[in-house]
Amino acid sequence: MSAKRRIVALSGGVGGAKLAQGLDMLDDVDLTIVVNTGDDFEHLGLMISPDIDSVVYALAGLSDVDRGWGRADESWHFMEEIRRLGGEDWFLLGDRDLAMHIARTNAIRLGEPLSSFTLRIARRLGIRARIVPMTDDAVRTIITSDEGRLAFQRYFVGLRCEPIVRSVDFEGAPSARPVAELETEFADPGPDAIIICPSNPYLSIDPILSIPGIADMLSASHAPVVAVSPIIGGQAVKGPTAKIMNELGLAVTNDTIAGHYGDLIDGIVIDHGDRCPVAASPLACLSVPTLMHTVEDKVSLARKTVDFALSLSQPERVG
Ligand code: GDP
Repeated sequence: MSAKRRIVALSGGVGGAKLAQGLDMLDDVDLTIVVNTGDDFEHLGLMISPDIDSVVYALAGLSDVDRGWGRADESWHFMEEIRRLGGEDWFLLGDRDLAMHIARTNAIRLGEPLSSFTLRIARRLGIRARIVPMTDDAVRTIITSDEGRLAFQRYFVGLRCEPIVRSVDFEGAPSARPVAELETEFADPGPDAIIICPSNPYLSIDPILSIPGIADMLSASHAPVVAVSPIIGGQAVKGPTAKIMNELGLAVTNDTIAGHYGDLIDGIVIDHGDRCPVAASPLACLSVPTLMHTVEDKVSLARKTVDFALSLSQPERVG
């Protein structure tokens, strides 16, 4: 049997986790998922890492597919009680989900890095892929909007993404270091392909790329970099991606997504109903169904994306 292909995927939360789940189900793939932690925050004394949890729950088969976020089979006794006590109730924490936040907070307070905790929990839940935060340092996404500067969860959950976005910053990023596992992943011979999941480029992937050294690792690697577009038919499947693009004065097209990633990517995967970007430099483009409802959709898109990315390998690396 031939060796497994080493794939590094960059992911945000729910949208990215769909493709990550498909990638994790490919038997010939050895997968590392680098997850955005710009959305992380401390709430009621707990360390919350929403995107990591979305990826972990999805790959463990524990996410609530109908609600679209959080744990399946959830109950809400904690929220009822915190409301009764007059505590903050704008961010929903299910009873099962709470255990994750308490375990993480406790581990971090005892000195364990977020990356080590995440790898440990993923193993414990039977996940094959290595799931790591982009950094073990604190990076916080800040939205500058028509309502002023907003912490990410205040904008995203508290204000339901209603404020008009003027710019997005990643506080702490300039002094943050890439998670140590990335050095290992990119050490010779490095990954066979790098896949940017169909996450929000501005809120989920940019924070990862803002960590000094990560974009350089991607560029210096021989591995092809392929992005899967989160835009289908001029709209986002879910969430504020298209709204933010409009507010930033950008056309909601695959051309904009391709232009945003620029020279970093060698190829883009777009939905079969859409037009390939007309990029200034030639950009490989694969047009296939990219809407993922079922597990089969996720595996199918993952298979096609990996095969497309590997087909872009430099000749000397094809073996
Ligand atoms: P968040 O951090 O939970 O907001 O999730 P992400 O940033 O990872 O993903 C949000 C993006 O996923 C949105 O821009 C959606 O358009 C995109 N998305 C969600 N589901 C799908 C899907 O089935 N196919 C594609 N192509 N994009 C999707």
